[in-house]
Amino acid sequence: MSSENYKEKTTTQGERSLNFLEELIENDLKAGKYTSIVTRFPPEPNGYLHLGHASSICLNFGLTEKYPGYTNLRFDDTNPTTEETEYVESIKADIQWLGFSWKHERYASDYFEQLYNFAIQLIEADLAYVDDSTAEEIATLKGTPTEAGKNSPYRSRSIEENKDLFLRMKNGEFPDGSRTVRAKIDMAHTNMLMRDPVLYRIKHAHHHRTADAWCIYPMYDFAHGQSDSIEKVTHSLCTMEFVPHRELYDWLIQKLNIYPSHQYEFARRNINYTVTSKRKLLQLVNEKFVSGWDDPRMPTISGLRRRGFTPKSIRVFCEKIGIGKRDNMVDLGLLEFCLREDLNKTALRRMVVFDPVKLVITNYDKAVEMLQSENNPEDENSGTRDIPFSHELLIERNDFMEEPPKKYFRLAPGKMVRLKSAYIIQCDEVIKDEQGNITELHCSYIPESKSGADTSGIKVKGTIHWVNAKDAVPIEVREYDRLFKVENPAAESGDFTSFINPDSLKIVEGMAEPSINQASGKEHFQFIRKGYYCLDKDATKEKLIFNRSVTLKDSWAKK
Ligand code: ATP
Ligand code: MG
Repeated sequence: MSSENYKEKTTTQGERSLNFLEELIENDLKAGKYTSIVTRFPPEPNGYLHLGHASSICLNFGLTEKYPGYTNLRFDDTNPTTEETEYVESIKADIQWLGFSWKHERYASDYFEQLYNFAIQLIEADLAYVDDSTAEEIATLKGTPTEAGKNSPYRSRSIEENKDLFLRMKNGEFPDGSRTVRAKIDMAHTNMLMRDPVLYRIKHAHHHRTADAWCIYPMYDFAHGQSDSIEKVTHSLCTMEFVPHRELYDWLIQKLNIYPSHQYEFARRNINYTVTSKRKLLQLVNEKFVSGWDDPRMPTISGLRRRGFTPKSIRVFCEKIGIGKRDNMVDLGLLEFCLREDLNKTALRRMVVFDPVKLVITNYDKAVEMLQSENNPEDENSGTRDIPFSHELLIERNDFMEEPPKKYFRLAPGKMVRLKSAYIIQCDEVIKDEQGNITELHCSYIPESKSGADTSGIKVKGTIHWVNAKDAVPIEVREYDRLFKVENPAAESGDFTSFINPDSLKIVEGMAEPSINQASGKEHFQFIRKGYYCLDKDATKEKLIFNRSVTLKDSWAKK
């Protein structure tokens, strides 16, 4: 799917047609099954959120913006060894930055006591038991998809013994891995996940919220559905790999006789030329392929934010890629397209010359003149700014050609061009050094051709950007390219890091108009004829550093 040929499915009225979840919810609401809905976004706090999560966030929060109800943020923190408070904070900040707000902030760990009691409830109903088998023994007896499993030798323990052992597990009497609690379902079930799934394991580990209160932790399947039910989540949305888990989800809710939440699945969204897996992103950070989770090349929300992506561009992107039942690879170019669309309307225009050549206006005799240039021609409320103009300017070296082809409308000997927001000039003489390199362009200007008050009657086809040589501000610009050389690095054989694009960061220098000194880090800029940029957090007063968020046009298409 590329940005140009991407078409949303629309109705005959031109509205986006409902996705399958919206259809389902509308039917449920119409049928009176619910009067309002509850969804949740359930990240595991073991890394920073990425674009795949953004799609899930937009889905879950988007549904309750559209229909009556609310969305909870629930941290799925049942795995004490990988979870950290730093991740919790970053996840909250990212969701808020995207413009969504949750009703309740919850943690699966809030429910540890309740989940423990649910397990006892199952044990008392003879629907769960304590198993002393090792992980290997459990695996061996599990069978295969074509062959039934065998009952564990501990399966027929008495309810009393199970209760006693479970209590002692909780009290820390046993080492890690020595016992588990398993649901008693059916070792011959066609769904392997229903063959007496493990519900609890022993793990003597410090938890980021419950500290050392627990040494037994519920497994995902036991925590997730029950947490949904406790929160009265109506539509529990997860990705397709959880389809086989749905049967267990429903079984547990039914046997515990608790609020009937329902699970629905949608396909993961993967983005080309990058990876969307927290584990892999963590590896990039740990092995220093990138400067951190918020490196502007990362597909993390924090990386995209630092790079200069806007919440709107990400939300529009997620809306455009929609949701479906089949996995697909989404073109990163579509996200960039969404950013250009947004920034074109909002970014402040500035002039920056990247590879300067000096331009001298020989008939200009004022010392300096303040000209005005509009901040954004797409937004009449954006105002203007002052730009100094004098007889010594800098222009891009490649905006001049000594022997231009026919349709070259920029500067050439004897030819005219307009300097953006200033005057029309004509190139009279080219000055070179001994090696034949161009050192200066001598031009004359047309005094009556001032932008906005042009009475010269001269028509020129080209407009170029420039800066005043004397007060131009040197800036550093970080230009980014795709992080990986191949479309789907995760699907290649071998270590995905060997497909990293060695040229994903290029540092260049630019000369900017003086108003750039007012950049605060909050604005988005369009450097005219170049692209969109924002101030990086590494910038100081002495050294302004900008990230190129995206080029003005899709340059990948050409490559
Ligand atoms: P990762 O593999 O990156 O850790 P995850 O699914 O394990 O991803 P969670 O923190 O468990 O990460 O995910 C929170 C929610 O985001 C889940 O509902 C999950 O299904 C959803 N999600 C994660 N990755 C994607 C993706 N690529 N596309 C759509 N939804 C996603
Ligand atoms: Mg996960």
